[in-house]
Amino acid sequence: MTKSTSKSKSTKRRCGLCGKSGKLIKTDCCGNWICDDEDKYVLFSYSRNSCHRNHDRYTLCSYHHHEGHKGDWKDCEKCRTSLPTEMYVWYGTNEYNFEKLPNPPSFDPTHCSKCGIVIKLGTEGYMQSGDEYWCEVCAEKKRRS
Ligand SMILES: [Zn+2]
Ligand SMILES: [Zn+2]
Ligand SMILES: [Zn+2]
Ligand SMILES: [Zn+2]
Repeated sequence: MTKSTSKSKSTKRRCGLCGKSGKLIKTDCCGNWICDDEDKYVLFSYSRNSCHRNHDRYTLCSYHHHEGHKGDWKDCEKCRTSLPTEMYVWYGTNEYNFEKLPNPPSFDPTHCSKCGIVIKLGTEGYMQSGDEYWCEVCAEKKRRS
């Protein structure tokens, strides 16, 4: 039997988020290829330059997976109810997703309990105590007082 040389299908794998080819890893949650760049992350730097880490930390896809929910995250009632709506929407629609949440629910913006400024929970720093959200400025003032 002669081994037929199958045309080598070298579709070059790329990260589904940033498009880079290179060291890639398959995500546990959705099986997509993504940069295996977790090691580039500097501990406690809170930088968001790691595709893998971003998808793992900031998406419904992985939240749903880590929480062990059943079915598709896009119509998971548990995800919907266990996160504040603003976070739910941000987790489902930010750029760390391969697939975005269709028809995200609307929500009232979160205001700083102290000065009233709008806080974008997904991308801005804030401090939470009980039902209150404090913007970074107010939180910093409190820290210093
Ligand atoms: Zn990437
Ligand atoms: Zn995923
Ligand atoms: Zn879920
Ligand atoms: Zn404030």
